[in-house]
Amino acid sequence: MPWSITIGRVAGTAIRIHITFLMFLAWIGFSALQQGGADAAMRNVVFIVALFLCVLLHEFGHILTARRFGIATPDVTLLPIGGVASLERIPEKPSQELLVAIAGPAVNLVIAIVLVLVAGSALPGGATTIDNPNVSLVARLAFANIFLAVFNMIPAFPMDGGRVLHAVLAMKLGPKRALQIAARIGQGLAFVFGFVGLFGNPILVFIGIFIYIAASGEARDTVFRDTIKGLKVRDAMETRVASIPIGATIGDAVDILLATPQHEFPVVDGHGKPAGLLTRDAIIGALADRTREAPVAEIAQAPIPTLRAEQDLEKGLADLNAARSPAISVVDVDGVLVGLLTRENIAEMMLIAQARPDWSFRRET
Ligand SMILES: [Zn+2]
Repeated sequence: MPWSITIGRVAGTAIRIHITFLMFLAWIGFSALQQGGADAAMRNVVFIVALFLCVLLHEFGHILTARRFGIATPDVTLLPIGGVASLERIPEKPSQELLVAIAGPAVNLVIAIVLVLVAGSALPGGATTIDNPNVSLVARLAFANIFLAVFNMIPAFPMDGGRVLHAVLAMKLGPKRALQIAARIGQGLAFVFGFVGLFGNPILVFIGIFIYIAASGEARDTVFRDTIKGLKVRDAMETRVASIPIGATIGDAVDILLATPQHEFPVVDGHGKPAGLLTRDAIIGALADRTREAPVAEIAQAPIPTLRAEQDLEKGLADLNAARSPAISVVDVDGVLVGLLTRENIAEMMLIAQARPDWSFRRET
């Protein structure tokens, strides 16, 4: 996600904070400062930071469980609305999906129990709880964790409860039927939230709309996963690709940019092997401070990952997501460029699969 700052790395997963989260934190601190002074500001900021630490631990519940099943997570990003972990894929086995989904809320439940025990033991008799600001912070945090666990267990995508419901249904009915039913239940719940919210709670209306959109998106994604199963990178790559020779100038790159509809260009060496990737943004960006004669090698993104045409498309897509690049060069057995796998092309395949679920994308070699 752009506008995120990486603050560290735990067990191979980069922890990123979105700039809006920092703004949110500043806003919390500032408004508390105006209303209740420095002390209140400090307490509120500490509470929010502690709360989001719990959100992060929740995400690591998912991440570490997924890792046990061989699924990596390149990064997790903290947003004001919560944490987003970029799991490379959802496990296909329902039992594994269930464990990965339930691990997040389970973490919040454990934290809540620990906090309650800590708060309880800190106060013999438990009488003066309310007066002690530190204890009330712990109590608030415990309550927030219980809320997080319950909220996330709402049985609707994209909540963890939706995944749990899907996994349980899939054990009995198979993944496709389970998805239809889970998506239907999620959308039904979204309507209930929206309807109840109309009587005075705008947040519920918002949650309803959010769940409705997410449930539809989830169904679409799964149709797509089914579509690409068994396909190779070769079946999905763009084959009419203009490349830029490594010795070309920025002037040449501009000419090629204008002559083709492409936005990403593989940069190739004398043997036709990819040596880098040049994006439209990089070309335009270079015009500001470089001459027409400057070599493209200076601005090309390199080294770049490549894909083999015979690789599974699922693996190719995972690489594309992990590469944080709009495209990846595809090579043959000799390492020579034969195509380009782009996000745009994948999006087009998704549109085709939606219009015609039985469409065969397999290409002849
Ligand atoms: Zn979760």
